[in-house]
Amino acid sequence: MSWSISIPFVSRSDSLPAVADAARALPEGDDRAVARQIVLRGMTSGMTTAGDLLDELAAMSPAERRALLDQARVGAGLPSTAETSAAAARKVRAQMINDDARDEIGRALQVCAQVGCKNFPIDPVTGAHAPHAARRWWCSEHMAGHEDDMQPWTMRIGYGPSGAIVFLDEVERDIATAEREAEARAAFLAERRAARIAEWPQVEAQDAAQAEALKGDNFKFKGAP
Ligand SMILES: [Zn+2]
Repeated sequence: MSWSISIPFVSRSDSLPAVADAARALPEGDDRAVARQIVLRGMTSGMTTAGDLLDELAAMSPAERRALLDQARVGAGLPSTAETSAAAARKVRAQMINDDARDEIGRALQVCAQVGCKNFPIDPVTGAHAPHAARRWWCSEHMAGHEDDMQPWTMRIGYGPSGAIVFLDEVERDIATAEREAEARAAFLAERRAARIAEWPQVEAQDAAQAEALKGDNFKFKGAP
């Protein structure tokens, strides 16, 4: 997994308040939130221009840049890079286990996907645990709302960006899961925003005052410790 930091600037002499304004205009998403955090951090540590910030970023080791990115992500209410990488690795591992468990016609031994439910498909003849071809198997008690999961798993094969073989059904399911998680995160952030709505005017006023102070008196801050 690769990471990047976007700093929106036109010239190295752009003031950091101008860069902070430009960061506001980035497409909504992680990059925008991270850029704003990093620019505000630069301002509070006495930097004045985009060039100052770029020089600092360039002088950092990859590990230091990663630590800065993590600090900014957490400050913006996002999961750290390690958490995000771990989640991606867990997904790949789960997919491998899932694929390995399937027999040549796509069946696997499954238990009900409902957490805590111990029901499993039963072979009507032998009464034993029967392999099932569902993408995810749900017992009759818990199936409502999960009918799509009961569709047979098919090994539709594609190629990922790195040339690795990927199983399209699994990828589509991962994408659907990621979309659900993004919705949940958006709902959480909206809730938190609503809860803190009274604080916002204060925060914005502080930002604006800080930006104004830096704008009007650049030299005072230049070279400050
Ligand atoms: Zn069940």
